[in-house]
Amino acid sequence: MSAPPLEIDVALARVLEACTPLATESVPTAQADGRYLAAAATAAIDLPPFTNSAMDGFAVRAGDTPGTFAIAGESAAGRPWGRPMARGEAITISTGAELPEGADAVVPIERVGLDGEPGTVSVPEVAHDANVRHRGSDVRAGEPLCSAGVRLGPAHLAALISAGHPRVAVTRRPRVVVLTTGDELRAPGSELAAGQIYDSNGPMLAAILTRAGAEVTRVSAAADTPEAHREAFSAALDHDVVISTGGVSVGPHDLVRGIGAELGVREIFWRVKMRPGKPLLFGARDTTLVFGLPGNPVSTLVCCELFVVPALAALQGAHEPRPRFSAAPLAVAVARNPDRDDLIRVRRDATGALAPARGQSSHQISITALSDGLARIPAGEGELVAGTEVAYLPLG
Ligand code: AMP
Ligand code: MG
Repeated sequence: MSAPPLEIDVALARVLEACTPLATESVPTAQADGRYLAAAATAAIDLPPFTNSAMDGFAVRAGDTPGTFAIAGESAAGRPWGRPMARGEAITISTGAELPEGADAVVPIERVGLDGEPGTVSVPEVAHDANVRHRGSDVRAGEPLCSAGVRLGPAHLAALISAGHPRVAVTRRPRVVVLTTGDELRAPGSELAAGQIYDSNGPMLAAILTRAGAEVTRVSAAADTPEAHREAFSAALDHDVVISTGGVSVGPHDLVRGIGAELGVREIFWRVKMRPGKPLLFGARDTTLVFGLPGNPVSTLVCCELFVVPALAALQGAHEPRPRFSAAPLAVAVARNPDRDDLIRVRRDATGALAPARGQSSHQISITALSDGLARIPAGEGELVAGTEVAYLPLG
């Protein structure tokens, strides 16, 4: 007898409990897009590093304006004016150029008069600090910049580099094998004989996992024989994560559970109260995590988004690895199922309301491809009326 299927949230908790963050490594910040920061970073230098101008114009002393000033020189970006500005002087200045000592405001070029005495500029009244960016006004040296467990994006890279971090410590990428099973599977581009289909789960999973930060080291296919399964799984079990598709249900050719057990994979759970994706298998051998995803393409996709992507985030030290559901209203009434949550494929209209796609079977991957995301319809009696807020997960 197998244990009864788990609730989705219980199953996810079991997955996350099994995930220990991987080792950290140092990488050039410029190459750290999508990586998870291993330790909190503080600014190494003040940002901006020097007080500078927000505009092209003239640096002046606000208290001396309005007035006409001698243009004493220029402070350009990267070429500061070398001496303090004297009274009665103005300095031509460009955006990002250092504010000369003695100046405390910048008047934009559009607001000055240059048609008086040659070499002079007439300036209207300007406020102290006008168009001045102070040293440290973005962040000061020693202040927090990025917290540990953040997934770095382009703006983080810019902030880290600006604040003096040419390299950062990130968690290493999980090494993942994708293993498809089934005698019916053929590689894309080959001729299909009767009863055969293209292996679409392999490439789909590899794409999702790569986006989630994994290093997908191998995608291989196993025929529906114990020998082929044994060989494929044995060769995969030295990776951080093994992800198989198909062969995990109760049919006579579903071999993944049995071969996994034979190879020492400890089963943590099998089956979740959800549709699609009920037969999901999760186990571990030593530090290797094993996900046996169901073969139907939509089931594979949903299980991967709900359980595998969070596991990869947790392995990379994410501070919030759970899927990022948000609340959105249903556009129409949706029937509930008494004993399992449904993850239905939905389109999101211009108002943000969710309309179920017109095909909800677990083989309908092309309809899924036209959907915007998944809506979670919790188990229960009757229906959810239009306007009910449900949890919504966009699909990439
Ligand atoms: P299974 O769980 O092995 O019984 O497979 C369930 C369904 O998913 C069957 O219709 C399979 O043909 C299909 N399927 C299994 N593996 C793949 C795959 N890699 N790509 C596309 N469809 C698959
Ligand atoms: Mg199969």
